Amino acid sequence: MAVETLIAGGTVVTGDAMFEAAVAIDDGTIVGVGEEKALPAADHRIDASGLLVMPGIVDPHVHLAGYNTLDTYESGTAAAAAGGVTTLVNFAWQGWRPEAGEFEAGGTLTDAVERHRDRADEALIDVGFHPVVTREDPSVFEELPELVAAGITSFKIFTTDSIRLSHGFIGELFEHLSEHGAVGMAHTEDHAVCTSKTEQLRDSPDPTVYPDSRPDYAEAMAADTLVRLAVEADAKYYGVHTTSEAAVDAIETHRTDGSNVRAETCTHYTVFDRSVYDQLGNTAIMSPPLRAAGDVDAMYDGIRDGTLSVVSSDHVATTEARKRGDAWWDCHKGVNSLQTGLPVFHDEAVNKRGLSYPELVQLKCRRPARTFGMPNKGRIQPGADADIVLFDTDETYTITAEDNLSKADFSIYQDRTVTGRVEKTFVRGELVADGGEIIADSGYGNVLSREVPDWS
Ligand SMILES: [Zn+2]
Repeated sequence: MAVETLIAGGTVVTGDAMFEAAVAIDDGTIVGVGEEKALPAADHRIDASGLLVMPGIVDPHVHLAGYNTLDTYESGTAAAAAGGVTTLVNFAWQGWRPEAGEFEAGGTLTDAVERHRDRADEALIDVGFHPVVTREDPSVFEELPELVAAGITSFKIFTTDSIRLSHGFIGELFEHLSEHGAVGMAHTEDHAVCTSKTEQLRDSPDPTVYPDSRPDYAEAMAADTLVRLAVEADAKYYGVHTTSEAAVDAIETHRTDGSNVRAETCTHYTVFDRSVYDQLGNTAIMSPPLRAAGDVDAMYDGIRDGTLSVVSSDHVATTEARKRGDAWWDCHKGVNSLQTGLPVFHDEAVNKRGLSYPELVQLKCRRPARTFGMPNKGRIQPGADADIVLFDTDETYTITAEDNLSKADFSIYQDRTVTGRVEKTFVRGELVADGGEIIADSGYGNVLSREVPDWS
């Protein structure tokens, strides 16, 4: 019996190895990996000669259709598909009312998830949700069992900004998450320090001071506190967007073999230091900020020693006018990179800093899938979903926001020349993007029911 598709002639990259092989796909699933002549005939043969055949990127940190972002599921997942991302996990903010543009006092996590389920109808790639706990209401503890049973197995909290939670409440939440095996994801910056430093620096209108308003030690202080709370509760802890050597050290101190402490960094912290604020001003403002050059190096040290196990995008869609319209302390934070994250990180990490392709697959595919309970994602093996990227390691091109499929109209990587380009993106065997063009219809994506992850 013939299978539907054979991707042949390329070099398969897994989290462990690279080898010449063909990949047989039937009914959206990988059914064979090996020598072409040993695999069944196919209705469609895709020639991957000269290309890497990688698992699709699994991006666990994305902002679509909600608080702080202009992208809908349609525009955001189109940008993702063009960038080789085949699965993303988006935030569902408790109480966020998009119509009102504010948080509603009585909103539940369950409402937030249901609202996203409706909107995700137009997703092109597969999506999941992390609910964000935005206020100290113990009723969220009662929502957890049903949410976890429904495949919502990770929850985010903040230590700063208006939606911050107290350490006492966070500790209690971690105890409940621990009971259900769910993951606690934390944005860690000390709120009081960031508020006070921001006040002190308001005399200076120049955005180059922005990193000093949210200093590395404030990030490390909050990371240290939250990791301690998670370890006490024996909860799975995932630190989001780690930016500084100080924070890596704080996390590393508490991470022991077999521990439940994990952390990510994001593309921009692996390529840019704070000197970028001199050139790009407010456009490059995200929180936490870009740091010193030594901190960029520390991200790679953290990647190499395992403290940082994932590189995500923290994609936020906004316009350049909106970013430039305010003083740096009021500026809309966040940058878009779903479409450019793989080529930019590949060029910096593999081409310039010598990271291997299997390590790239671990950081961007395999570990995010395992960390967040998606065993069929992020791997090229029989039985896995046929989420595959054909990547040309030799093609050099210059990034421009004119190509953006996101609603964001700028890119902090504007005019950056990179070597390595996404050629084709397949989601469950279907070609969804080809040469930067979207091929499949929006709505092809599925909403994922995730497992309670096994971190052993
Ligand atoms: Zn984020």
